[in-house]
Amino acid sequence: MAVREIQAKSMLQKSGLPGAQYVVNPYVGCVHGCVYCYARFMKRFTGHNEPWGRFLDARVNAPELLRRELARRRAPLEGAVFLSSVTDPYQPPEARYRLTRGVLEALLDHGAAVDILTKSDLVLRDLDLLRQFKTCTVGLSLSTLDDALARRTEPRATPPTKRRAALQALHDAGVRTYAFISPYLPQLSAGIEELLEALAGAVDEVGVEALNPSGANWAGVEAAIHRHYPERLETHRAAVRDAGYWAALELQARQAAARLGIRFTGFYRH
Ligand code: SF4
Repeated sequence: MAVREIQAKSMLQKSGLPGAQYVVNPYVGCVHGCVYCYARFMKRFTGHNEPWGRFLDARVNAPELLRRELARRRAPLEGAVFLSSVTDPYQPPEARYRLTRGVLEALLDHGAAVDILTKSDLVLRDLDLLRQFKTCTVGLSLSTLDDALARRTEPRATPPTKRRAALQALHDAGVRTYAFISPYLPQLSAGIEELLEALAGAVDEVGVEALNPSGANWAGVEAAIHRHYPERLETHRAAVRDAGYWAALELQARQAAARLGIRFTGFYRH
């Protein structure tokens, strides 16, 4: 798949996301190909004809442009910069383009705080930078720790067992870490307690996001279940729209996190 190189007009954007005042997206599109991708609505703004997940634009001036934007500011940034909101900052082409690394170098020089969320263990490449930030949090998102399931639902992302290993390596290096169980997939993800137990010792915090049962997010999941696990489809459909199911899951997650000494940052429902 070809990567198109483009010039961005702006990099630092105000964020409406909880806990992050700004976002930086060094890429447009995402090649990880998650069947439930929440960012696919972005396609209509890209000018691409290929399906979402099959194109990527590299904003090759991202580090330099961000440096200029930061230099124009008189005051330090208040709050954290989140990487990234509608792309993954560590997709495979980042190994070659090093745009996320350049962005981190600019933010580090400016004294900014960062919050990174990815599905790739490529984030470990930048551990030398991450350790230098005064405030830095790194999250790996997972919907399962089963590599075979992830090959069907997140085909080009780092296998989740390696993501868990990346969290451990970051945590052991002194970086604040979190797991974002996103989305939790009824009838596919393991039990929430089992997931949290497997993450204990590697994360400081955990948050959980319920699968969004509307729009293209859910349609992709349904197609994957229909293809690979047809016997689970009806119970999955019933659970996704059952408020009681999600309430029970939230309670289990909160209780398991408290027992394991992991800070629970929230349960997000749509
Ligand atoms: S890693 Fe995130 S942005 Fe990329 S395809 Fe998966 S859900 Fe979408």
